[in-house]
Amino acid sequence: MRDSSTQPGKVVFVGAGPGAADLITLRGLRHLAVADVVLHDALTDPALREHAPQAHWIHVGKRGYRDSTVQLEINALMVKHALRGARVVRLKGGDPSVFGRLEEELQALHEAGVPAEVVPGVTAALAAAAATQRPLTRRGSGRSVSLTTAVTQAGAVQAGRRADTEVFYMAGQRLAELSRRLLAAGWPADTPVLVVSRALWPDQIASDHTAATLPAASVLHSARPAVVTVGVGASGVADPSAPAEHPSVQVPAREP
Ligand code: SAH
Repeated sequence: MRDSSTQPGKVVFVGAGPGAADLITLRGLRHLAVADVVLHDALTDPALREHAPQAHWIHVGKRGYRDSTVQLEINALMVKHALRGARVVRLKGGDPSVFGRLEEELQALHEAGVPAEVVPGVTAALAAAAATQRPLTRRGSGRSVSLTTAVTQAGAVQAGRRADTEVFYMAGQRLAELSRRLLAAGWPADTPVLVVSRALWPDQIASDHTAATLPAASVLHSARPAVVTVGVGASGVADPSAPAEHPSVQVPAREP
């Protein structure tokens, strides 16, 4: 910790993972290496500690949208340490700008006069696409991608049909409801739907369904963070007529 008579420190939001620690950016690593305090989520890999052994690590695990008390505590912790002159890294799973409460945390820092910086990370939708080799955009058929939380602030499941490929976050425990909402929104029953839970962790699971058969995925992905990709970007690129030197794409689980 540096001298408290110095300028206020700074808070750097750093995206990490999802899953494997080595998905962090070099810029994120550089900030970790000089951090005094690291405030981290449940979804970040503990292996990242090796990159900031000098820092005081504080777990501020928080899941879902309900716990506003926890959010206020996180805001207060960031401000407290930064005003004491500490270099604070706020480590977030995936990308800080996607369903990461960045708005509230930035606002709290601005109000307290604490400078902030944001270092992007790999969001779960992109991790799932990479892990399963399913490009989210396709030439000619997939021109748009939407990232949507399936669950509203009030706890209801909602789904529309706004893009060629839609990726739903926070739907893992509500797949039967999501299926009904997708069909009601006009997605044909045979629309490809891909569910990937714990993408890019060693125990990743990926499974293929349709808009109508999605409820069958509930047990497989139960109690695991999952993204649900719907539409053009959910289908495999394997070509059964491809010659042997171009084998069809498997859905790989990452090696531990
Ligand atoms: N900022 C994060 C999202 C946090 S919200 C990001 O950019 O990825 C939490 C939701 O993210 C989970 O409910 C789940 O839908 C998704 N998620 C996070 N990690 C995941 C992973 N490894 N695999 C699949 N989905 C994940």
